[in-house]
Amino acid sequence: MNLFKIIYAGKDQYLKRAEEMVQKAIAEKGKEAAVRFPDTAYALPVIYAITGEKITTVGDLEKALELAKGFIHEGRLLQDALDSGTASAMLAEIIEAVKYTLEEKPYKEPLHGHLSDAQIRAFGVPLVTQDIPGVAVLIGQCKDSDTAGKIIRDYQEKGILTFLVGKIIDQAIEQGVKMGIDLRVVPVGYEIESVIHVVSVAIRASLIFGAVEPGNFAAHKQYTKDRIKAFVNVFGDWDEKIIAAGAAAIELGFPAITETYINEVPTLLLHQPDNEKVVETSLEARNIKIKVTKIDIPVGVASAFEGERIRKGDMYAEFGGTRTKCFELVQMKDLSEVEDHKIEVVGPDIDTADTVPYRSPLAIVVDVAGKNMQEDFEPVLERRLHYFMNYTEGVMHIGQRNIAWIRIGKESYERGLRLKHLGEVIYAKMRDEFDKVVDKCQVTIYTDPEMVEKLEKELALPKYAARDERLASLVDENVDTFYTCTLCQSFAPAHVCIVTPERLGLCGAVSWLDAKATKELDPTGACQPVPKEGLEDEVKGIWKSVNEAVEKASQGAVTRVSLYSIFEDPMTSCGCFECICGIVPEANGVIIVNREYGDITPVGMTFGELASMTGGGVQTPGFMGHGRHFIGSKKFMSAEGGLARIVWMPKELKDDVRDRLNAAAKELYGIDNFTDMICDETIATESEGLLKFLEEKGHPALKLDPIM
Ligand code: SF4
Ligand code: ZN
Repeated sequence: MNLFKIIYAGKDQYLKRAEEMVQKAIAEKGKEAAVRFPDTAYALPVIYAITGEKITTVGDLEKALELAKGFIHEGRLLQDALDSGTASAMLAEIIEAVKYTLEEKPYKEPLHGHLSDAQIRAFGVPLVTQDIPGVAVLIGQCKDSDTAGKIIRDYQEKGILTFLVGKIIDQAIEQGVKMGIDLRVVPVGYEIESVIHVVSVAIRASLIFGAVEPGNFAAHKQYTKDRIKAFVNVFGDWDEKIIAAGAAAIELGFPAITETYINEVPTLLLHQPDNEKVVETSLEARNIKIKVTKIDIPVGVASAFEGERIRKGDMYAEFGGTRTKCFELVQMKDLSEVEDHKIEVVGPDIDTADTVPYRSPLAIVVDVAGKNMQEDFEPVLERRLHYFMNYTEGVMHIGQRNIAWIRIGKESYERGLRLKHLGEVIYAKMRDEFDKVVDKCQVTIYTDPEMVEKLEKELALPKYAARDERLASLVDENVDTFYTCTLCQSFAPAHVCIVTPERLGLCGAVSWLDAKATKELDPTGACQPVPKEGLEDEVKGIWKSVNEAVEKASQGAVTRVSLYSIFEDPMTSCGCFECICGIVPEANGVIIVNREYGDITPVGMTFGELASMTGGGVQTPGFMGHGRHFIGSKKFMSAEGGLARIVWMPKELKDDVRDRLNAAAKELYGIDNFTDMICDETIATESEGLLKFLEEKGHPALKLDPIM
């Protein structure tokens, strides 16, 4: 069998269908009709990245067909075959684009189809922290659903982001695999063409995080090969179209592993008939190393379970929420006061329930000790409790401190999960993640109502208050060191965050205390101290030492940064920012949009479109990615007039930042309830309505100097 012939035959089938689909779109919608995938700023992203052409109308699709045909030349070199793979990918994208043009929702639950830009951006942090160590694309159908379930769960427990294409989706459903984007198993579609939605994710990572130029296909291929640890598994019998799609994957640097023999090309196309070994072979092929902490409890513990929700009906036990007290605390102790690996439940465990759902007060107190431990790290470790509990299968954790809210699902209870196991998870994870600072750890879980009450009053509340006081005193003026964070360089090679007490990393996940702890945990790692030296401009936030640190950490790509300015050398963005801020000249201010907000804004762009204006570690005056928490800081854009410039935010974001923002505005401008002067989508989403609202409210931005 000739591999090339198979690829060429597959490509022919894509071409035929794409041509038919385009004709159908022209007949039904006309050439002027818009063509687009939902919530992306990159048109047909694969074609855009490969050719630099934005295909936006049905008429353009004819041009897209020609562009794809440009890659077709049935020669005898490997590159000829790979080019046919590329053509197949472009043709598949045309086919899928027509589906989205003819129908608003061509993919119905549980199928996912296209992923939005925001969904891709949200993968940024877990990818750089290796919470998602790789990406698997599973195509076809396993010999039985039991096998399919095992393989998918294996990937899921390893945190691998897994996409399913074909009948394997039904097998996963049959096996009760927990699926959804938050659970890292995404059933994309039944037809092979739908695999383009996964290719689109990889290509958009290159556009978004890598800031690779559209049209520079060679650079995109280099990016996906080097930075996206993806691979393909083909199960069952392959057909020509699957193999042509495989060629497209290989061209992007993603090896394909087939169950049924077709051919072998070292490192690129591998044959693994043994289902027991396919996961191992795949991870090896992409050099993905999985760090496993084996925790001996009756349910799985994996980052992929983080997004799992437990609904009322599935709930066995509940702590906190509005019904009972529930708090958690990590406290530093002397080495002599901690007995390592002591796990204790004080009060009844959940198997004493006589009614379901079982409800009880709960306190989780984690004592840690270590030579390098510092009191400043307590909140850093404590915030991880949220993740550790969520990683546990069938456990949902919301909130923190004394607004923690925990649910345990029936299924996990039946499999044997008890409160003491939560203690085991916390212990194991603390020792694993914080081994440099935690030498000993003990966990005590209280359900006894009187004890919970007493401990909250005497231990937790005073501790939280002391920490809040410390945090309030943590302003940029009061420290002599900032930190760099370069974690995102694995995707955005030139990007550097400068993390200060008031300006956390733009992902929202790295505060100044986190950065300080990270330095302690990994002395040569992503967070390095920057002594605050050589002040050049206090209002704009320019220090000589910061410039030098950025220049060094960006390998010379960026030489100057003003921490508090959006115009003059603003901080760069990688792509995973929580919010994007952009100017509205006519309102003399800026709008801020968070990633979760999907609709249009008064600048005529969505979050995704705004976000596409910046990223990849490039400075873009007028646009700035930042964390939510920065919005309440007195340093926010202080070079351009500060918080008074904020004229519009989505309502949810306003509510989230209201208290801190109001307090800061009161202090800076003497304005009460400043947040109420800021417009939102319930008031206006176009500039006329925005201006009218601002004038009614007497918004301070209108009286400031012109913003540009
Ligand atoms: Fe990435 Fe910046 Fe967050 Fe570090 S602080 S993880 S570099 S966004
Ligand atoms: Zn990032």
